[in-house]
Amino acid sequence: MSDQPVSPPSSGPLVDRFGRVADDLRISVTDRCNFRCTYCMPAEGLTWLPKSEILSFEELTRLLRVFVGLGVKSLKVTGGEPLVRADLATLVRMFRTVGPDLDISLTTNGVLLDQQAAGLAAAGVNRATVSVDSLLRHRFEEMTRRDALDKVLAGLRAAEAAGLTPIKINCVVIGGINDGELGDFARWSRETGYEVRFIEYMPLDAQHEWERAKVVPGAQILETINAEFPLAPVGNGSEPAALYRFADGAPGAIGVINSVTEPFCDTCNRLRLTAEGFVRACLFALEETELRAPMRSGATDDELAGLIRAAVWGKWPGHRVNHPDFVQPTRSMSMIGG
Ligand code: SAM
Ligand code: SF4
Repeated sequence: MSDQPVSPPSSGPLVDRFGRVADDLRISVTDRCNFRCTYCMPAEGLTWLPKSEILSFEELTRLLRVFVGLGVKSLKVTGGEPLVRADLATLVRMFRTVGPDLDISLTTNGVLLDQQAAGLAAAGVNRATVSVDSLLRHRFEEMTRRDALDKVLAGLRAAEAAGLTPIKINCVVIGGINDGELGDFARWSRETGYEVRFIEYMPLDAQHEWERAKVVPGAQILETINAEFPLAPVGNGSEPAALYRFADGAPGAIGVINSVTEPFCDTCNRLRLTAEGFVRACLFALEETELRAPMRSGATDDELAGLIRAAVWGKWPGHRVNHPDFVQPTRSMSMIGG
């Protein structure tokens, strides 16, 4: 570290002190949600940010322009539930004008996709990742606190018809809850061609009820599926998901995001902007950098770029989930933008 410069470079890629380049941005467009997934939010009692604190379309677009100027190449629009932000397609159209070559994807619970998929595709979204934690109606309801599996499946069909492909599925695996469905998800992947990405349960729930004993390690997930449907690894560049195809050539793919048991911090290229304009260099970060106040009090684009460079420069080498000194961030996944 001694030969490292003490402050971030003022030009070139958005780099941190450990040489990682942040070029993959997640923007949370709202903290609100129409689901209450048990691993993310409490059933009730969460207060939403007042509208005045949420960045406007113009503010979000301006910041995206600054991020793109700093080398950001892909954008994930997320939340909360991004599709509950009124007129999301208009925002995406504005995003598209500042990033004509950006890879724009959406992470959604899918329940409003049947109404919005076509409009979002026309506005410039390239592809969708849809969260589906169970293929059984009762368990889906148990995990999301909404009886909405059929509507989400209809949303997935609409997303496919609108060309928001390749479609990825996010499934948070929780021991004793949905870990008996791994084979069913693999079968579904083979039937639909969807890439099913199993995510290890992370300590990012608003209630702070996460238990390590409920984390199902990605290696165990792969072993279970491989026993039924043999898998073959696929080279996957800097993607956090370790990706596998079916060895018999069936469509679909299986990914595991082992954020807890095998953190991918060394190659992490992610950066997050919360709905009220705070930059977070890590999901588990305890510090964040505010852009809203400086922006609202007249900061120039160059000044905002400087703040972003400093935020990335300050990124820690890796999260502390597996260390005795781990402190869960105050913000939950829905507040950060997963
Ligand atoms: N509402 C959208 C959705 O659910 O897809 C987007 C936002 S959500 C916070 C993004 C992703 O984070 C979802 O796939 C969700 O399953 C995942 N997530 C939320 N809380 C989590 C937790 N405690 N551990 C692991 N993944 C989590
Ligand atoms: Fe809402 Fe997504 Fe959190 Fe579920 S995971 S409560 S859908 S933000």
